[in-house]
Amino acid sequence: MESQIPTSLPILIPRPEHNISRANISANAVKVLYRLHDAGHRACLVGGGVRDLLLGREPKDFDIATDARPEQVHKLFRNCRLIGRRFRLAHVQFGRDIVEVATFRACSEESEDGSGSGVERAANGRILSDNVYGSIEEDAWRRDFTINALYYDIANFAVLDYVGGIADLEAGLIRLIGDPVQRYHEDPVRMLRAVRFAAKLGLRLDPATEAPLHRLGHLLEQIPPARLFEEMLKLFMGGCAIQTFELLRHYRLFGWLFPATEHCLNRQQQHYPKTLLIRALANTDQRLVEDKPINPAFLFAALLWEPLREQMHRLQADGVDDHEALQEAADTVTREQSRRVALPRRYSLPMREIWELQPRLMQITGKRPLRLATHPRFRAAYDFLTLRADTDEQAAELAGWWTRFLQMDDAERLQATRLAAKAQAKKGNPRRRRKSRPVSPDQSAPPPTHDV
Ligand code: ATP
Ligand code: MG
Repeated sequence: MESQIPTSLPILIPRPEHNISRANISANAVKVLYRLHDAGHRACLVGGGVRDLLLGREPKDFDIATDARPEQVHKLFRNCRLIGRRFRLAHVQFGRDIVEVATFRACSEESEDGSGSGVERAANGRILSDNVYGSIEEDAWRRDFTINALYYDIANFAVLDYVGGIADLEAGLIRLIGDPVQRYHEDPVRMLRAVRFAAKLGLRLDPATEAPLHRLGHLLEQIPPARLFEEMLKLFMGGCAIQTFELLRHYRLFGWLFPATEHCLNRQQQHYPKTLLIRALANTDQRLVEDKPINPAFLFAALLWEPLREQMHRLQADGVDDHEALQEAADTVTREQSRRVALPRRYSLPMREIWELQPRLMQITGKRPLRLATHPRFRAAYDFLTLRADTDEQAAELAGWWTRFLQMDDAERLQATRLAAKAQAKKGNPRRRRKSRPVSPDQSAPPPTHDV
């Protein structure tokens, strides 16, 4: 990279010629910028904050870059923690808001004092650690995309562009800085970031940035599952989950994140899993629009639903009973998936509960529905059932029963479950006498099913 860094002056866009105003930057970020500046340091807003403001969008967060070393930043702020192994960063905390401050870094093999390499690379070129401080210009060149390497300087309120980011922003282009293949090898997560920004910002990928994506997905195998989990949240919880999903599939990246799901999606004559998934992704996007909370567990439950069913059917065909098959399939699917994308227990447990409640939602006689409705995961499980309803007739009838049931008052509910029990007794089920069968509150019972 170093040889590619020209030492030309940046394009400087003075304050009157751009639309970034301090009023649009979070008060905390402005505070941090000024504190650094007043202490004699260079202090700039950088990355997504500058990019989004220039695009007239509301930034998700504000990242700051400075020539102050992390220890110097630490001394300036009482509310500051140094974090990170790969990149040493300062986090300045204001209540729940965190402003991230990074020291300008170079992407060079030699550290500035000539004391040897500060960049640790794997044999395949992947950067493992690159804590080599550098100038603002070097900092610009080691960033991923040109549109992410623009600086808003608090000293004069100008925007600085070392890499042609402004022109790309105006042309609506996402372009990797430097040689794309090399940059993807250095950090394969940049492939996911390219897709994420394309989906979120509605920009096009520059052809040279786009071309290698189709064939480099395998590089994601080198990325630790925990990092891919963080990335996966950003991919699917940024408000553009559907477009992101379609692009990930288009560039053959999705299968490297969710191999079992990809396998199911590729099976011919099967359109079901995609519909359920698309509905789950649409739901996530919609909930974000409505400012409702979203739980990654629900998304994982949808992403892995088809692999779960497939695994269950295999076990059932071998004579394993329904309950056992669900448990075993959930174990296998979760274990296999965690090898690619980590699935922390705080999400994998509720995901499993959503799955486990699906057959329980079929038990609609006696006190069971009343009890089930108070289960902490009931709402998520019911929502999941309604997702399934689009692609599964039996689930649709059941979802209808529950929807009506939830609208009833206590007396009506009691009556509905009595009717369900009566209908069951009338029809009888000699083979599975002890298991309840779903009966609708309006007495038109959905057909019994033991297939989730
Ligand atoms: P957003 O926060 O809206 O998702 P962002 O561009 O700010 O987008 P961050 O993950 O917050 O993304 O990163 C901040 C900046 O750090 C980026 O804009 C980019 O300049 C740089 N950066 C982040 N990840 C990488 C990477 N993998 N390789 C090179 N530079 C990166
Ligand atoms: Mg950011």
